[in-house]
Amino acid sequence: MKVLVINCGSSSLKYQLIDSETEEAVAVGLCERIGIDGRLNHTPKKTGKKIVIEKDMPDHEVAIGMVLDALVDPEYGVISDLSEIDAIGHRLVHGGEKFTKSVIIDDEVKKGVEEVSPLAPLHNPANLIGVNACEAKLPGVPNVGVFDTAFHQTMEPVAYMYGIPYEYYEKYKIRRYGFHGTSHSFVWGRTVDMLGLDPAHSKVIVCHLGNGASVSAIENGQVVDTSMGMTPMEGLVMGTRCGDIDPTIVEYLAHCLDKSLEEVMTILNKESGVYGLSGGVSSDFRDLDDAASKGNIKAELAIDVFAYRVTKYIGAYIAALNGVDAIAFTAGLGENNGVMREQIMSSFGYMNISIDPEKNKIRGEETLISTPDSGVKVVVIPTNEELAIARETVALVG
Ligand code: ADP
Repeated sequence: MKVLVINCGSSSLKYQLIDSETEEAVAVGLCERIGIDGRLNHTPKKTGKKIVIEKDMPDHEVAIGMVLDALVDPEYGVISDLSEIDAIGHRLVHGGEKFTKSVIIDDEVKKGVEEVSPLAPLHNPANLIGVNACEAKLPGVPNVGVFDTAFHQTMEPVAYMYGIPYEYYEKYKIRRYGFHGTSHSFVWGRTVDMLGLDPAHSKVIVCHLGNGASVSAIENGQVVDTSMGMTPMEGLVMGTRCGDIDPTIVEYLAHCLDKSLEEVMTILNKESGVYGLSGGVSSDFRDLDDAASKGNIKAELAIDVFAYRVTKYIGAYIAALNGVDAIAFTAGLGENNGVMREQIMSSFGYMNISIDPEKNKIRGEETLISTPDSGVKVVVIPTNEELAIARETVALVG
């Protein structure tokens, strides 16, 4: 089967055409600046050569049309006819409490996704625009929705309830949901397979450390806790998001800066995290490492604060799980930054966790980086959310 995987943001659209037999992406690409001007980056796997097409993309339907044209283009296309696309898998960000697993998208599902849109006002409407555009351009081809929140729906109330009046949960569904679920689920599965753990008797902590970052505690394949909350703002200090803070700061900052709540939220979302902490050096750890090595104290502090917050979450989750068999690192930073992994794991000597410095030099490859006598196995597992979405899609329509 050939599955088109779509990840639709408000002004961008990432895609991969995945062959489910080989599990390889035959083409990958990205539409940028939708509604502004428009640029399509398209890379067929067999040549590896990126094609850039600059053309007006007033909306997502036009963008999807350009993606489909690129896929069948005689020069740089990868299929000869659109009928070769058997199904479309969509990343849907927020499924609220309604969606606990992936679903074939119909009108009822779309209504459900729309109903939880107030919880993800930037993401869900954009995701739905992508679905509608695919329905219009590829009529009759099944669309599957894979939710970022679904894997975390196994959390118990003790983990997902906030300490606020109960009626707000009942009336407004204010609770912790968690995100990056597709990645946590994929990496959990690979960790268990790679280490030969019994999935039904396993305790795993997954650290998804990218621009957005979250940690999850998974017992016997079920999420017990995860660091993101009602929205992806909670938890770790991230590229530009603040993570856990005292809510009083919101009110106090609004007062100090004479700004609206919306403006303060934008600061906490887009100008905070390691970017803000470093005094605006960068949200990218490669730039932060570079600045820190040249003596930039704020960049060094940002790196340390990030590592310390991850360490605290891992410590908390070892307690939540009452032990741990394996800790997995994934996403851009988790897969590529051995110094960060070492810094985080150095606080767990009390559990006899030890990292092999040679193996920890690995970048982006499945590797056991702990020493043979380490008290807990520590692994690097490259995440592959698109493949996970393609697998879910095949499972539902194949
Ligand atoms: P996103 O959440 O945007 O998908 P990523 O998972 O790509 O983010 O992670 C971005 C972070 O990963 C950046 O801070 C970057 O420094 C780091 N990173 C990504 N690739 C590499 C690499 N090859 N070497 C070192 N760091 C990397």
